[in-house]
Amino acid sequence: MSNSSLVKINFLGAAGTVTGSKHLLQTPEMNILVDCGLFQGLKPLRNLNWEHLSFPPEAINYVILTHAHLDHCGYLPKLVKSGFKGSIIMTPPTADLAKLILLDSAGLQEEEAEYARRKGYSKHENPQPLYTQEDVHHALGLFQYQEDNEWVVLSDNIRFRFKRVGHILGACFVEMDCYGRRIVFSGDIGRQASVLFPPPLRPEYADFLLMESTYGNRLHSKVPALDQLAEIINECYQRKGNLLIPSFAVGRAQELMVLIEQLKRTDKIPDIPVYLDTPMGEEATEILRKFPDWHKIPRTECDSFFVNIRMVKKLDETFNIIEHNKQPKIVIAASGMLTGGRVLHYLKEYIGNEHNTILLVGYQAEGTRGRALHAGSHELKMHGQYFNVVAQIRELDTLSAHADQGELLNWISGLKQKPERIFIVHGESDAAYAFSNKIRDVFGFNSIIPSLKQEVILFDSNKPLPSPGLS
Ligand SMILES: [Zn+2]
Repeated sequence: MSNSSLVKINFLGAAGTVTGSKHLLQTPEMNILVDCGLFQGLKPLRNLNWEHLSFPPEAINYVILTHAHLDHCGYLPKLVKSGFKGSIIMTPPTADLAKLILLDSAGLQEEEAEYARRKGYSKHENPQPLYTQEDVHHALGLFQYQEDNEWVVLSDNIRFRFKRVGHILGACFVEMDCYGRRIVFSGDIGRQASVLFPPPLRPEYADFLLMESTYGNRLHSKVPALDQLAEIINECYQRKGNLLIPSFAVGRAQELMVLIEQLKRTDKIPDIPVYLDTPMGEEATEILRKFPDWHKIPRTECDSFFVNIRMVKKLDETFNIIEHNKQPKIVIAASGMLTGGRVLHYLKEYIGNEHNTILLVGYQAEGTRGRALHAGSHELKMHGQYFNVVAQIRELDTLSAHADQGELLNWISGLKQKPERIFIVHGESDAAYAFSNKIRDVFGFNSIIPSLKQEVILFDSNKPLPSPGLS
């Protein structure tokens, strides 16, 4: 509760960067955090996860999650550990995916802290994970499911609803009515023509709009992903090589499976064995099957993944495939940027043979092995050893789950009135500036690119509403 009648927003993350999404809305009645993500990427960003939140967690009443990506939900266990006791509200598929992703994240952090402790390479005497699996379970206890499209009344003056936005399973943007004004939080906006999801819904009204800008300065390739993928698979198959696709286990991996199955069904590629090797892969695919209303993959096709694609869970099996299975095949394995995970075991085996192809399908952040391959590096260091890059390195940039500039513009073109202010968030600064200029030129909308921890007064809840059309 606050003594002030002001409604304010505070950008606690994803301001001038694409990770750590945390938008705090302070109102006279309550404080609401929209998204609660981890900072990821280079070390100075990751260090921000260890700082105290600049607002007391116990004074936050609700967290609303737009979707389950780690950069939107990955800070939740830490928030709860630091004193947050309210409800965390999200759609049912987001809840299932967030549980999977958070437990995995905690597991990896615990492993890493333990490894650093044993090897003594941390500058801390007793390296600790940011949070443990037990912390995740405390956060899960505060989860509250909410169907999309229904208003959730938080008080006499505040209500919100989720609207589907493509991107990943369960993802939504948030429309919030607050003392008669509408605030819209875009979350991450999906593609117009996604393999998995119907086109994103669009907001019709917004007095204030927080808008992502990941690809605010570029357009995705127009060549259909299916055609590019078919060419890459066939080339590799003709060389009798193995095709290794580093991929995030949730979302991207399922999209690849759909495309590969479609290519096989239409005889555009031969019936090559496909392996999905990641501990989360099977569960993530199962969650897709559990929520048929949330995507456009027919039931039979979802079922067919479990018949046609070999889901590898145990590490023993990974080594078995690498040692004993020399047939041409497609392996999808995490992590997507080659920063760790099982994909490295395959990479060590496949990278030295010119018949094999390594296919990069997503954004490769600075400082990762994926970025090094993208930049044409001649060698890669893995598990303390150098490996020559001899395999073919190919890229497929059409599989992004994020709207490009044209699609972002399309999304806001549904607004029937000029918003009072648009805040451009969730983009590197080049992308955010380019997008900010673009919407001023195209629509004449005023936009602001907030900086990290900047607090902005939206309006005074005691003052009468401006007449429609004047804002
Ligand atoms: Zn996302």
